[in-house]
Amino acid sequence: MTTTPARLTVLAGPTAVGKGTVSADVRARYPDVWLSVSATTRDPRPGEVDGVHYHFVSTERFDEMAERGELLEWAVVHGRNRYGTPRRPVEEKLAAGEPALLEIDLQGARQVRQTMPGALFVFLAPPTWEELERRLVGRGTEGPEERARRLDTAKVELAAESEFDVTIVNDDVHRATDELVRTMGLATR
Ligand code: 5GP
Repeated sequence: MTTTPARLTVLAGPTAVGKGTVSADVRARYPDVWLSVSATTRDPRPGEVDGVHYHFVSTERFDEMAERGELLEWAVVHGRNRYGTPRRPVEEKLAAGEPALLEIDLQGARQVRQTMPGALFVFLAPPTWEELERRLVGRGTEGPEERARRLDTAKVELAAESEFDVTIVNDDVHRATDELVRTMGLATR
């Protein structure tokens, strides 16, 4: 285990594995860990705050950001909405020598691998395939068609685990969060 904090950490993993939950746990329990706020064209869900959970932008605005090179990476996720990482805040953090965490999908992680190969790539995995299915059904945010589509994508995403430097199994959110923070080379409490 390195004692030097990894500067940029990319957290990815299949749909419903709990990336959002782990990120929220990082935000709640480790406010010192800087988490990138992505831009997205999707609508806010109840309780989501613009500028905190995402920057909710129009498709036109998103495309403008992408064209101007303002996004470190971006992708159309689940065949629908665009999601991307604003470049400047990440670069500012890294320039200040501070660690930064991105929670993005596999396509985005691959783009960052190209442009920032020195980053630490962490794969969040479900304990089992059945548990992943159970979580997707349990959260009830998608209908049967969308669920089937996401599970198809999840199969592809799970096969990409070997592209990552580290795998963390999300068997328990607090435990997975602590492991992530430790993997970033930061002290857990
Ligand atoms: P949700 O709509 O449930 O918040 O997120 C859907 C998916 O978009 C998740 O897999 C999440 O990791 C991914 N995502 C969120 N932000 C970004 C981003 O900035 N870039 C990319 N490539 N994917 C993102």
